[in-house]
Formats: sequence, C-alpha cells, structure tokens
Amino acid sequence: MSTKMSAACIFCKIIKGEIPCFKLFESDKTLAFLDINPLSKGHALVIPKHHGEKLTDIPDDQLGEILPIVKKLAAATGANDWNLLQNNGKLAHQEVGHVHFHMIPKPNEKEGLGVGWPMQ
Ligand code: ADP
Repeated sequence: MSTKMSAACIFCKIIKGEIPCFKLFESDKTLAFLDINPLSKGHALVIPKHHGEKLTDIPDDQLGEILPIVKKLAAATGANDWNLLQNNGKLAHQEVGHVHFHMIPKPNEKEGLGVGWPMQ
C-alpha cells in the first residue's frame, strides 16, 4: 500500500522536508522528532508517515514500529519515568490532525537526561 499524504498537513510537510524538524529516527513508515513546544526536555513525537487523523484511520501495517521506537527513545533519554500520550479528536485535545504519539520524559531534576540523548 502506498503512503497516504495530505498537502495541508503540517506533519506531512515535516515528513516531506518542507518544514524543518530535529529528527530522532526515520524509516520508510515512521518518523520521530522533537516537539517544538516541549513539556519537558526530550519531549518527542513519533508518527506514522501514513496520513490519518486518528489511530483508527491508520492501517495496522503502518503502526508496527511505533512502540519499539517509543521504547528506544525513552531508554535513550535516561529518564526513569515518562509518559506516552496519544490524543484522538478535538474533544480529546488533539490539535494536529495527523496521528502522533507523545513521549514525554520526566527527567531527574538534578541529572537531567542521560548521555544517550538525543538518540545516536
Ligand atoms: P496538544 O497541542 O494539545 O498536545 P496534540 O496532541 O495534537 O495537541 O499535539 C500536537 C503537538 O505537536 C504539540 O505538542 C505541538 O507542540 C507539536 N507541534 C506542532 N507543530 C510542530 C512542529 N512544526 N514541529 C514539532 N512539533 C510540533
């Protein structure tokens, strides 16, 4: 199946390189980058390249890498504690209409994030 894109979507523009991002991981199906307005240091977004507003809009075969990448990113931050968040729809506070998973570290106050961050 070909990757669906939306010309008006800001995250599709990031995928196409039309808008810059701080890239953490990229494959043919998945992109991870730093959130431009981070809730904590290391706040990352992991997205399927296939465009869809809600998780239910994305084919299963486009989602398989997401959780393994979230795990790698979380481990690379060195933070013990972190949140994984994924909003679906306006009532759920979704602002950008392209499925994205927030990985939000809770860095140790004294030590910050680990030496493995950003991911090498
Ligand atoms: P919310 O803004 O309530 O968290 P979403 O779950 O839709 O709603 O999250 C959208 C996220 O995308 C926000 O955290 C925002 O900072 C981030 N974002 C928007 N534009 C960009 C961009 N160009 N590069 C990186 N992150 C972005």
